[in-house]
Amino acid sequence: MNRTVYALRREIVEVGRRVYNRGYVAANDGNISARLDRGRVLITPSGVSKGFMKPEDLIVVDLTGKVIEGRKKPSSELLMHLRIYQERPDVNGVVHAHPPYATGFAVAGIPLTQCVLPEVIVSLGGIPLAEYGTPGTEELFKPVLKYIKDYDAFLLANHGALSIGPSVMAAYFKMETLEHFAQIATVAIQLGGLKTLGEAEVKELIGLRRNFGIKTQVSCETCARNDTQECVAATVPAGGPAAGIDRQALVEAVTAAVVRQLNGA
Ligand SMILES: [Zn+2]
Repeated sequence: MNRTVYALRREIVEVGRRVYNRGYVAANDGNISARLDRGRVLITPSGVSKGFMKPEDLIVVDLTGKVIEGRKKPSSELLMHLRIYQERPDVNGVVHAHPPYATGFAVAGIPLTQCVLPEVIVSLGGIPLAEYGTPGTEELFKPVLKYIKDYDAFLLANHGALSIGPSVMAAYFKMETLEHFAQIATVAIQLGGLKTLGEAEVKELIGLRRNFGIKTQVSCETCARNDTQECVAATVPAGGPAAGIDRQALVEAVTAAVVRQLNGA
């Protein structure tokens, strides 16, 4: 076996182990892939726990999805992975998982598009919410296409999360950043709300992105007044890029959740 191909197989196996061990997937959930070269993609098999894969379990497919090498069946989300590689030539790795906090936001219908944490603004911008689509069909990734050019991490409504990057390990780290952000946002919302950074701070962070070679646009929402007391919010404004949820209804839902929390319910 070609050493580079083998190294890439091992990298996917390692990402699978981390995704499983961190509880980002249960049982056989999730799928991971890496671009091998211009015409081939390496992807995880279906029906296998990502925590216990061996390098030889992975499947090599061409860009039409035809299996070139491998005994098992490729992931049921193969078409989504192939479409992402087609849309984003700069992407060489794709990770799909169901990390509980990020998936919680996806299930609640709340995108993570506010400018809140510096490292998230620098590495991801924001995380939009793609509408629900049936897993294993085109309907799953069609809503993602709307955001694919501008973002590197996505929430999939009522399903999970997706991250992409210049390597499969880079895509995995974006998944970690996303889940960490979702976890912090959950605590902040319980404590009273997310305080969004102001335009000046965000502009400075955007300047840093160039140093890291990050090309996607920053699409998170800033606080125009830079007055944190005026900037406590928990969602995207109605009509925003990842809208689809009523702001007032969301504020009420979050308030009710906080009250329940305070009452120990
Ligand atoms: Zn899934």
